[in-house]
Amino acid sequence: MAEQVALGIDVGGTNVKVAFVKEDGTVLAQGSIPTDPERGPEQFATGVAEYAKALADDHRLPWESVFGAGVGLAGFLDVEKGWIEESVNLHWYDVPMGELLEKALGKPVRMDNDANVAALGEVWLGAGRSSRTALCITLGTGVGAGIVIDGRIHRGVSTMAGEIGHIQIKNDGELCNCGHRGCLETLSSATALVRHAKEAGLVGQSGDLTAKEVFDLADAGNTVAQSVVADMIRWLALGISVGANLLNPDVIVIAGGVVNAGDSLIEPLRAAFQEEALLRVARACNIVPATLGSQAGVLGAARLVFQ
Ligand SMILES: [Zn+2]
Repeated sequence: MAEQVALGIDVGGTNVKVAFVKEDGTVLAQGSIPTDPERGPEQFATGVAEYAKALADDHRLPWESVFGAGVGLAGFLDVEKGWIEESVNLHWYDVPMGELLEKALGKPVRMDNDANVAALGEVWLGAGRSSRTALCITLGTGVGAGIVIDGRIHRGVSTMAGEIGHIQIKNDGELCNCGHRGCLETLSSATALVRHAKEAGLVGQSGDLTAKEVFDLADAGNTVAQSVVADMIRWLALGISVGANLLNPDVIVIAGGVVNAGDSLIEPLRAAFQEEALLRVARACNIVPATLGSQAGVLGAARLVFQ
């Protein structure tokens, strides 16, 4: 039998990443095109399919060897039906994306949200390799999470498992997008870090302040930045200890641009986590930075097909 190849599709707000991946994780071909959500879901599906077929042709990859496609995108999904219920960043609502892509590609399609596919990618080929129970946290505009147990995404009954960003950990805290107050993501997302740093008087060196810059300033001895970073890490440790006490994971993977801060994030986070989580939970769990970067999503999406 010819080797089987999965098509991974990672739909971001700006670009769609596409990769052909073998079952051992080897990437045979990859590329990206603009998402351009304004063209509408149907044109989008056709455009992605045309691009994928051309990419396969360029790499002399027979279309028959592709046995399915996995798709990751941000939003509330009905995974069983392959339905996008609500994707705020693409402005798509009630879209049968699974069906549209199946028609355009002529292949079966499986879908999941971006946090879940990124988590699956990290557990398959990245920092969570060989983990049995993994909690993968992404620090970005929000705090997202994916839970992977025995190599499979844990979705809950309505694909809402892993909404760790909305655990309310601070009494009377800031109002969150979800309508509640004091959610983890109002305290520990990259966006929150920058907001708090600005409120404390820090400014960007060239242009708008970034989370990476706040960490750099803290590393360089800026005490204001150090205090903002310390707060962010303390709340993050509290939030992930709630998740860890519930799941008893062997690994917590931290992903997102902030991870480039390296040890100035991970080391203090490990120390604070040891204090916050139950002793036996903390002992069994390693906190590690993600290793696949922006590739996690497209690889995890491909992995969906092999399951
Ligand atoms: Zn919230």
